Amino acid sequence: MEHREVASINLARLLREGGTARAAGVVREAFRVGEERFPLEGEATWKVAVSAVGGDEYWLSGEVEGVVLMECRRCLKPTPTPIHAHFQHLLRYQQGLSEVVFHEEAEEEYYAFGEPDLNLLPFLTEAFVTEMPYTVLCQEGCKGLCPVCGADRNLVDCGHEPEVHHPFLGLKDLLPEL
Ligand SMILES: [Zn+2]
Ligand SMILES: [Zn+2]
Repeated sequence: MEHREVASINLARLLREGGTARAAGVVREAFRVGEERFPLEGEATWKVAVSAVGGDEYWLSGEVEGVVLMECRRCLKPTPTPIHAHFQHLLRYQQGLSEVVFHEEAEEEYYAFGEPDLNLLPFLTEAFVTEMPYTVLCQEGCKGLCPVCGADRNLVDCGHEPEVHHPFLGLKDLLPEL
C-alpha cells in the first residue's frame, strides 16, 4: 500500500457504493495537541479501514504505531517509548456538514462528517497520545538529577548527598538504648 504523508482517506466511492475503504500513511516529526508537541523518533505509521454498516453509518477502525520521545521522569532525558494504538469509532454521514463533529447521545458516541475526504489526523493523534504512559524512566534505576546542583547523577558523581527523610530517624535518637 502506498504511504502518503497526508493523513486522510477519501470516502467518495464508499459513500456511493458501500463496502470498505482503506488507507495507510505516515506521520513525521511529532503529534500535536494544542500547544503540546510529542516528538517522534523516525516516523509513525498508520492504517485505517472504513466500512459501510448500513444507512448513513460507517465503522472506522485503525492503528497507529511509532516511537515517541518522552522525558525521563527522573533525569529528563528524551527517552524513546514505543507506542502501538488501536482505535474504533462510529461515523455518521451528514451531507453538507463541513467539519467533523463529535456527538454523544445516550449510550452512543459517533462522529458526524459531511466531506468525502476525511481528515484522520485527529483520530490518529487521540489514539496515539491516549496510549502513551504517564511517565517513563530512561533506564531501570535511573539516578535522576542532583537536587543540589542539577547534575545528571547517571553521568557524574557530584558528591552531594541526597537528603534522607526517614520517619523513624528522630525516634531512634530518642531511644538510644535500642
Ligand atoms: Zn533518567
Ligand atoms: Zn550535586
